[in-house]
Amino acid sequence: MLKLMLLLVIPALLAACAASNKAPRPPRFAIAIHGGAGVIDRGAPEAEKESYRQSLERALRHGRDRLAAGDSALDVAESVVRILEDDPNFNAGKGAVFTEDGRHELDASIMDGRNLACGAVAGVRTVKNPITLARLVMEKTSHVLLVSDGAEQFATAVGVERVDPTYFDTERRRRALDRVLEERKRRAEQEKSRGTVGCVALDSHGNLAAATSTGGMTGKRYGRAGDSPIIGAGTYADNRTCAVSCTGTGEEFIRHVVAFQVSALMRYAGMPVEQAARTVIFERLQPDDGGLIAVSRTGEIAMPYNSSGMFRGAADSSGLFKVSIWEE
Ligand code: ASP
Repeated sequence: MLKLMLLLVIPALLAACAASNKAPRPPRFAIAIHGGAGVIDRGAPEAEKESYRQSLERALRHGRDRLAAGDSALDVAESVVRILEDDPNFNAGKGAVFTEDGRHELDASIMDGRNLACGAVAGVRTVKNPITLARLVMEKTSHVLLVSDGAEQFATAVGVERVDPTYFDTERRRRALDRVLEERKRRAEQEKSRGTVGCVALDSHGNLAAATSTGGMTGKRYGRAGDSPIIGAGTYADNRTCAVSCTGTGEEFIRHVVAFQVSALMRYAGMPVEQAARTVIFERLQPDDGGLIAVSRTGEIAMPYNSSGMFRGAADSSGLFKVSIWEE
C-alpha cells in the first residue's frame, strides 16, 4: 500500500517541482521604439539630451499603456509613430530633414504580422502623418507602395490630414542641410545625420506589428527613397518570428534586406531574436550603418546598433520601461 502511494505521489511532486522551476512566463505584451541611429554626441547640452529622453518616454508610455489595455499591435505601432512624427526632435513628419533642393520628401511603411499585410508611401510632401497614409495603402488598396504624386493623390482620395510643406521645416534641420551642402563643396560626402522613427509591438493577443517613418537623409537627391518605405528592408513583421524596424543608411539596409534577414535567421536558422539581430547588424552591415529594434513572438526585445548611439526605448508587461541613447 505504501509503495503504491509513493508511486502515485512522487511523480506528482516531481511534476509540481518541474513546473515551478520553469522559465518565467514570457511577457503578455512588449514594445520597442526608436528615434534614429548615429545621433547626438555625448557632450551635447544636458537640456537637449533630456528633451530627447522625454520625447522617447512619452511615446513609449503611450504604447505601453495601450498594449496593457488590450489594443492591437498594429494600432499601437501606428499611433506611437504618429506621436514621434509630430515631435520636432525626430526626422519624421514635423522636423524631417531637407532634400538637397530644400524640400521634404517623407517615407513610411507599416506591416501586420498576422497576415503579412503591409503598406508604404514614399516621397510624400504634404501628408502630416505618412504612417497613417501607409496604413491606408495597406487597408484600402491592393498595392503595397505608392510614391510621390500618386501617393499625394491617394491622400486626397482618403482624406488624411494635409499641411503646407513648410510645416515640416525646423531651424535645426535647415542648419544641417547648410552644413551638408558646405561640406559637399569641399568633398563628396554622404551625410550621416538621421533621426528616423519606428515602433515594433507584440500585443496581448499574440500579434506582432512594425512601423517606420522618416524624412530620409539630409541633402538627399530629389526622388531618392531609402529603406524605410521598403518592406523587408526597413520594416518587417511576421507572427511566426518577429517585428523589426530599422534606422540608418538606407541604401545599406536595402542591399542587405535587413528587416527580413532578421526574421529569416529566426525562421530558417532557428536563432533567438537577439542573436539574429546582432548577426545582421554586426556581421552583415559595416560600422556606423545604423541599428534596428525587434520584438519576437514571445516578447524578447533586441535593439542592436553599430553607430555611435541610437535613440531607443523598450517596455513590456513584466514592468520593463527604459529609454536610452548610448550604451550605459
Ligand atoms: N533609413 C533612413 C533612410 O535611409 C534614414 C534613417 O534611418 O535615419 O532614409
